[in-house]
Amino acid sequence: MFNTRVKIKALLAQEPQNQEVTVMGWVRTFRNNQFIALNDGSTGNNLQVVAELGKFDEELLKRITTGASLKVKGTVVPSLGKGQKMDLVAQSIEVLGDSDAEKFPLQPKKHSLEFLREIAHLRFRTNTFSAVFRVRHTLAFAVHKFFHEKGFVYLHTPIITASDAEGAGEMFRVTTLPFDNPPRNEDGSINFKEDFFGRSTNLTVSGQLEGELGAMAFSDIYTFGPTFRAENSNTTRHLAEFWMIEPEMAFYDLEDNMNLAEEFIKYIIKYAIDNNKEDLEFLAQRLTEEEKQLPQDKRSEMGLMEKLDFVLNNNFERITYTEAIEILINSPAYKKKKFQYDVKWGIDMQSEHERYLVEKHFKKPVIVTNYPKDIKAFYMRQNEDGKTVAAMDILAPGIGEIVGGSQREERLEKLEERMAQMHIPASELWWYLDTRRFGSVPHAGFGLGFERMVQFVTGMGNIRDVIAFPRTPKSAEF
Ligand code: ATP
Ligand code: MN
Repeated sequence: MFNTRVKIKALLAQEPQNQEVTVMGWVRTFRNNQFIALNDGSTGNNLQVVAELGKFDEELLKRITTGASLKVKGTVVPSLGKGQKMDLVAQSIEVLGDSDAEKFPLQPKKHSLEFLREIAHLRFRTNTFSAVFRVRHTLAFAVHKFFHEKGFVYLHTPIITASDAEGAGEMFRVTTLPFDNPPRNEDGSINFKEDFFGRSTNLTVSGQLEGELGAMAFSDIYTFGPTFRAENSNTTRHLAEFWMIEPEMAFYDLEDNMNLAEEFIKYIIKYAIDNNKEDLEFLAQRLTEEEKQLPQDKRSEMGLMEKLDFVLNNNFERITYTEAIEILINSPAYKKKKFQYDVKWGIDMQSEHERYLVEKHFKKPVIVTNYPKDIKAFYMRQNEDGKTVAAMDILAPGIGEIVGGSQREERLEKLEERMAQMHIPASELWWYLDTRRFGSVPHAGFGLGFERMVQFVTGMGNIRDVIAFPRTPKSAEF
């Protein structure tokens, strides 16, 4: 039986008073043939296990190498060394799994994040990644806690769908048809009637449309699941498979929507600070070290903890798209032609523009509202001006867009009109339009990219380093 062991996090919270315990974990380092730094993933802190000189077999000691797994029974005593409050003086040490020190890719030294990405199957065993993934866990838990406390229903929307919510062609197709000789129609096109579902299907790009159906019965729902986009964007903020949180609320307008999004973001950040302080402090330290490589003007003005506190204690700036464009046009950066892409009303802001607004101009998260209708999805509520829609994007320092949302068009005629203009076949979305036929209500919702949130909280610069096994163009190892 293994379950009598104590986890290292729980043990380190105790006072050392000669208690006899069993611990299990992986060796991080073994110094002077005597001191084992043991880690079991419950905390970033290692337990110092002392193998007293002369007490153990040479053969056994040789097998205590970085990466090996051990079961240790011993007595907990106050540590004589600095840096830890307790030692576990070993009575017995059992090697559960050897790790050939010559072959084990993780050496007890600093590895680059790029290298660790190539050994993503082992990178959880590093200080950085174990901290990131504990924080990720806490944030995920906080997401459910927040919505649960507010009475939202967690709705599981489908992974395989026949609709493309955005009307954008960035989907992964799901099919069982043979590649080499698919059934064809008379005109040569592929006959999807013969496919598994009797029609063409794909992996979901968003659960929103189905989420709206739920909101029309439960009032408030949220989804939290994987989302797939075959976009060929090789950026530090895009994955082909990412997790999205999509709340959808009946009887909400754009302002209610913004208020909820801001409260939600602050709640989960606070929850992580309250529950993962050590990991966050470690990551803050890591970021400071990393930024020392950069020229002074490229370093963050605030440390990670400071930044998170700042976000908690300040309101997000709220501006309209039109105001945002004016700020950009009047900016020194624009006048000095520092932007690569031109700025004028109607553009889809590029990340350089978003970053200017957030990092240079306001220096805090910004909610931009009322975008031109032509750059936004068909379901967003049309404003009286005939030009804009009740959209909102939240932009975060260092990340750019973290939330995209809107009040939805609840008026059937307006919605049908917009769909026709955008060539979205109403016949395929008959079920969606039914919500506007039977008891339609003003409603709103948003999508928060979970990995971008994890990046924001952990300070990790590349989105590939906050998801366990990243899927990106030309990369699906593990
Ligand atoms: P972007 O302009 O950054 O590509 P988007 O406008 O395509 O974002 P939405 O369709 O509004 O994004 O999706 C909602 C949220 O999902 C975004 O605010 C972002 O946080 C996240 N997101 C979108 N695409 C990706 C992706 N490829 N990888 C990770 N997160 C993403
Ligand atoms: Mn996109």
